Amino acid sequence: MLSEKLLTLLNDQINHEHYSSYLYLAMSAYFEAKNLGGFAHWMKVQSEEEYEHGMKFYEFIYDRGGVVTLQAISAPQAEWASPADVFDHVLQHEQKVTSLINTIYAEALKENDYPTQVMLHWFINEQVEEENNATAIVEQLRMTENHQWDIIHIDHQVGKRGKE
Ligand code: MG
Repeated sequence: MLSEKLLTLLNDQINHEHYSSYLYLAMSAYFEAKNLGGFAHWMKVQSEEEYEHGMKFYEFIYDRGGVVTLQAISAPQAEWASPADVFDHVLQHEQKVTSLINTIYAEALKENDYPTQVMLHWFINEQVEEENNATAIVEQLRMTENHQWDIIHIDHQVGKRGKE
């Protein structure tokens, strides 16, 4: 049985993951409007993955006999200065999500809630990958500043992403 505190943190995390999904969908829409279909595709896949992350927490709460409480999802930002600015935002956002996951893990450790710890191991690994992917794209985009064709080349590469 989940403690009230962990149940609250896990319910909040459903909201954080679904907000992430919404934020990346807004970024996808931004890229669509700029005719950068590769980045738009990457963001759409990212958005779908974040929805699934939220559902992992949703299922886990029920597996542990808890009750899911869905909360309002805030409207995401809709405009950015450049593709590099968008991916800076992705990196900052993922760093924030990592700290939220770490907070839940610290509570699960404190309470000796082993199933929550084991469930969170997947997310801890996932966050390493998320930060790594975002950092790589930010660094590539920074290298291309003022070189528009380079941005189009990276857009093409990013657009080849499949769903994991
Ligand atoms: Mg996530």
